Amino acid sequence: MAKRRSSSGPAARPGRRALLAGAAAALAAPALARASDSYAASPFRSLTDAQWKARLPGFAYEVLRREATERPGASPLLQEHRSGVFSCLGCGLPLFRSAWKFESGTGWPSFYTSIKGAVATKADASFGMDRTEYHCAQCLGHQGHVFDDGPRPTGLRYCNNGAALRFLPA
Ligand SMILES: [Zn+2]
Repeated sequence: MAKRRSSSGPAARPGRRALLAGAAAALAAPALARASDSYAASPFRSLTDAQWKARLPGFAYEVLRREATERPGASPLLQEHRSGVFSCLGCGLPLFRSAWKFESGTGWPSFYTSIKGAVATKADASFGMDRTEYHCAQCLGHQGHVFDDGPRPTGLRYCNNGAALRFLPA
């Protein structure tokens, strides 16, 4: 759930002066939000669950909005070796470059790094495991989990659901 700014403050007071001040505050708000959350004002953040369900193919909805995990080996993207970019299927934000994809042997598309600022993480203690979940920084759609057993140069393994990605050849 996206956090909403309080509506109290100068903008709540009546009068032309206050209204102008309120307008200035409203203009400043996205800039303030950008400091911690670059995509806080994204229209994707205000889509309802029903709207997401209508936009996304069935299983992509389960992954992106319900944190489901696809069956290993299920994604056609495992065989995708062309040069290009892997974007979030939910909103189109580019997340990974093909040069960062590697054969992890896990059955999920794997990358050793992500495009700067494109994914955000959270701790995930579900299923009795301590894992780090990551999601698209723009629409907050779940992508996968990141582990510290990846290859050089980062040592990271972004283990991604292919159903949450769209490949765009360069
Ligand atoms: Zn997204």
